Amino acid sequence: MRGSSMTDIGEFNEKLVLQTIRSAPEGIGQSDVVRRSHLSRQAVSLITRRLLGDGLIEQAGRRISGPGKPHTLLRVVADARLAIGVHLDPAHITVVVCDLAARPVARATLEPPTEDPQADIARIADAIGALTRSLGARPSEPVEDPAERHERSEAQEALPAGRRLLGIGIAAPAGLDAEAGILRDPPWMPGWRDVPVVDALSAATGLPAMLDKDTNAALTGEIWSRHLDASQTVLYLYVGHGVGSAISANGRVHRGGSTQAGEVGHLPIGRAGEICSCGRAGCLSLYTDAHVLVGRARSLGVPLPAGDDMTAALTALSQAAEDGSDAARGVIADHGIALGAAVRLLAGIHDPRRIIIGGPTWPALSSVGTARVREALADWLIEDRAVLENSRLGDDGGAIGAASLFLDQELAPGTPGPSPF
Ligand SMILES: [Zn+2]
Repeated sequence: MRGSSMTDIGEFNEKLVLQTIRSAPEGIGQSDVVRRSHLSRQAVSLITRRLLGDGLIEQAGRRISGPGKPHTLLRVVADARLAIGVHLDPAHITVVVCDLAARPVARATLEPPTEDPQADIARIADAIGALTRSLGARPSEPVEDPAERHERSEAQEALPAGRRLLGIGIAAPAGLDAEAGILRDPPWMPGWRDVPVVDALSAATGLPAMLDKDTNAALTGEIWSRHLDASQTVLYLYVGHGVGSAISANGRVHRGGSTQAGEVGHLPIGRAGEICSCGRAGCLSLYTDAHVLVGRARSLGVPLPAGDDMTAALTALSQAAEDGSDAARGVIADHGIALGAAVRLLAGIHDPRRIIIGGPTWPALSSVGTARVREALADWLIEDRAVLENSRLGDDGGAIGAASLFLDQELAPGTPGPSPF
């Protein structure tokens, strides 16, 4: 699909070799690539020559280990390929350009989505154009015809700058059709109903694009940026306007039949009392949605800025807790207890080796909340049965994850995903 004449198995092997080299950022000898990839010495030799020719890898000095001749180390040229990540979040839109190691090399934060998706997409395309220009990659003119668009992006990829743009990954809240590239009815984004975001952004930028849920993107970003051991089952909790989960096994994120896996908002966490919009009591989202926290804090007299800006309100809540407000600490702790109950249920279902909590609002809540989740998971965290950690990707985790979706689709061996073409 990229003008390659390789057979499927050849392409798989090439991606496998690239992944093996990628997972050793400090450099790896060819014999170790053979051992870890289980490919023949001849195949690895052929493929590394091709990857060197493509500028995807480089020689990184020699290592002398024991008797015998020193061997040459190979490592990935991280900025040989770039991917763009767009995170559509109710609180803001983030655009990043990431290198092959999923490290952001340029970024921008834009105003939140409005009720005019067309104007929003134009703003995103402008930001992508500005960021890629700043990196020396020529942005394409908008094109309407898909065939011509494909030609243009091929042309862009042939730029001699040494930095090739692969395409755009878009991460958005649930209520989407990843296959068709359409946002159906994301919560808290009232203007975005049935928006063909993949086609629209692709037309506006001349680049291929793909769409996935923010939760799946965030977990893909963790796997990709940290080279997480593929044999580990990883459970990810995404804390944003709402709470969602994602699960990966064998290095692949499980998406379910319609990309709705991990919609845990109505998971019953065993509390009686308030009745949820779904008609039942004790749903997770009654205790963890951002607007619930903010409402509860306000009702307890914690001074928060007025208005719908959840980021500003949660930042103020977090600051109040840090300044010693018992009410603020109590509200955040209760969120942590509810989240912990849900994580315990999910751990029982998935038996993860690693549990990661992240998402846009978690940084504001984690200093109080992490201990509560840890208490709830006490049984799971003994004797290295599983580890619990906070995402280190920070506020840009969703956007870095979105870029990782595209890197993963293009460069990971055998990872099925929604095709952008
Ligand atoms: Zn419910």
